[in-house]
Amino acid sequence: MDHKEKVIAQVKSEMPVKEKKNGVEITNPFEIVQKLMEDATKTLELPASFYEILKKPKRVLKTSIPVRMDSGEIKEFEGMRSQHIDVLGPAKGGIRFHPKVNEDEVKALSMWMSLKAGILGIPYGGGKGGIIVDPRELSERELEELSRGFIRELEPIIGPDKDIPAPDVNTTPEIMGWMLDEFSRLKGKNVPRVITGKPIILGGSEGRLEATGRGVVYTIEEAAKHLGLRLDGMTAVVQGFGNVGSITAKLLSEKGVKIIGITDAGGGVYHEQGLDIKELMEFAKKTGSVAGFKSYESLSNKELFSSECDILVPAALENQITAETGPTIKAKIVAEAANGPTDPEGNDAMEKNGVFVIPDILCNAGGVTVSYFEWVQNAMNLAWTEREVNDRLHNKMTVAFDDVYRMKQEKNAGMREAAYLVGVGRLAEAMIARGWIKDWSMPIECNA
Ligand code: NAD
Repeated sequence: MDHKEKVIAQVKSEMPVKEKKNGVEITNPFEIVQKLMEDATKTLELPASFYEILKKPKRVLKTSIPVRMDSGEIKEFEGMRSQHIDVLGPAKGGIRFHPKVNEDEVKALSMWMSLKAGILGIPYGGGKGGIIVDPRELSERELEELSRGFIRELEPIIGPDKDIPAPDVNTTPEIMGWMLDEFSRLKGKNVPRVITGKPIILGGSEGRLEATGRGVVYTIEEAAKHLGLRLDGMTAVVQGFGNVGSITAKLLSEKGVKIIGITDAGGGVYHEQGLDIKELMEFAKKTGSVAGFKSYESLSNKELFSSECDILVPAALENQITAETGPTIKAKIVAEAANGPTDPEGNDAMEKNGVFVIPDILCNAGGVTVSYFEWVQNAMNLAWTEREVNDRLHNKMTVAFDDVYRMKQEKNAGMREAAYLVGVGRLAEAMIARGWIKDWSMPIECNA
């Protein structure tokens, strides 16, 4: 075994423990983010005590939410909210409704939010929440009761300057409207700044619905520039056709990228000549899936990842690019629109094959950025035009991309490692500025 192989074996032996779920090997996202944060603190030569603060959320609230079902029975749903670190500002992050929500996932997602805020230079800490539920199994009334019940449970720990929720997987502006209304009723006054991603009539921002997908496209444009490529005429495949996947596909196609394959929870569709995304959006809205569109060829996730294409956009769930799918990727650019779509082995495989990876904590940060704009507009009681929002978003995303790219060059690192170095570096800077750490060479003194 030569030195390089030994180093790889050593790193692999330190890799996060893998769990078996339904017989399938899955990497725990909480352990992945811990490992990457720890590595970043070491590369930045920060004392180990920084990592002691960073390595876990400051607070995780777990709660049970009773809902009177349409049948008359009372059903309890499990919900949780994780607040990682408030060194840059109040916690911020979405709420997801999904049957597979679990504590480690929510903790990891809140830690990624802290890093995104650091990378984008936004005054927020990391937050994330979730309820274990398949919303498709609930009536609209049951869903509203669940959403309002969750806010009643969270009320003591959220607020415009404490923790500001937003939409995520399976949660919508309509749900944000119910949540805002419930919080405002509890407080006896209208509190629009407690929630972002709300309907525009309630103080939502122009451009918020499209913000994550738009930010993804801005980062793809930057990556293409660095690779000396033009978007016009490129091909792309997208996993997930919800808020982020569909908007990314639509905006990419408007820039002349041919979208040749898309999958979602119901199946997938492939068309070498390019899919008409507007028509596909209408079709998926009606049928609930992209599957069966115009009787084109069907496409599995496995086939999607190994497609001959220029751009691959995972915009669905975690742990999709793995030891199995990673080596099959032929795309030049992988834009991680989803949170945590890649496990360490998947990342290694892409780096080995020279794929340009735009890591999640940079790529999908457009959502939190425009959420921040929404919160700022609410504080000022004014509304920016969509053009103003998009211009500001473009500015933030391109500056963040440049910061990460410069770090990559400076440290001879991969894009993911560079993004962690920028994010962790900013959190460390804020900890020092707050006086949580008095002397780098001394054991940490922290009152967090
Ligand atoms: P969404 O609920 O609107 O859409 C999720 C999509 O994933 C759906 O099309 C669903 O069918 C698909 N999907 C689910 N299981 C799948 C599977 N096994 N194979 C293929 N597709 C599958 O959610 P969203 O808001 O678009 O979020 C998608 C991802 O982007 C998540 O990781 C989320 O955390 C991340 N994200 C979202 C935002 C935002 O503003 N909404 C911001 C940052 C990051």
